[in-house]
Amino acid sequence: MAIMPILQYPDPRLRHQAEPVANFNESLKNLAADMKETMLKASGAGLAAPQISILKQLIVIAGAENNEDFDDRVLTLINPRIIHAEGEQTTDEGCLSLLDLRDQVLRAAEITVVYQDLEGLQQEITASGRRAIILQHEIDHLDGILFIDRLSLLKRSIYKRKIKKNLKVAADD
Ligand SMILES: [Zn+2]
Repeated sequence: MAIMPILQYPDPRLRHQAEPVANFNESLKNLAADMKETMLKASGAGLAAPQISILKQLIVIAGAENNEDFDDRVLTLINPRIIHAEGEQTTDEGCLSLLDLRDQVLRAAEITVVYQDLEGLQQEITASGRRAIILQHEIDHLDGILFIDRLSLLKRSIYKRKIKKNLKVAADD
C-alpha cells in the first residue's frame, strides 16, 4: 500500500470527468487500498480517485466508531450512481483538496446509491445524515464538481480571490 499525493485546488485535473471502471482486477484492489490508506492518513471522511489524479469512478468512505450513521468499515464504491434523493440538510463541509476552507453546503437529506464492489457485484446503500453528505460530496468529485461550486456566487468569488492570494504569497516566498 502507498500514500498518494492529494491534488489541491485549483489543479485542473480535479475538474475532469472520471471514467467508469470496467476491469475488477488486482490493480483495482491495490488502488482502493492505496486510497483507503491515503484517506486515513489525511484524517479524511472520504476520498475520490480523481483527487489522487486517477480518473476512475471509485470512492472510499471512512467508517467511524461511536457514530450511529456509520459502521466501522471503510466502504469502497465503484461506478456509484445516486438513484434516489429526498429532503434537505445543510452542514459544514470541507475537502482534502481545498484545505483551510469550510462552509455550509445544501445537500439531500437521504440518498440511495447503486454501485459495484471490488468484485464487480452490484450493491445498494441508503444513507442519511453525515454519511449521505460524504457520499454526495465524493460522487460530485467523479463529475469534476467541488463543494465550493455549490456555494453562492459571492462566496465562491471570495474564496477564489483568497486562494489566488495564498498561491501568490507561496510563489513569492
Ligand atoms: Zn472533497
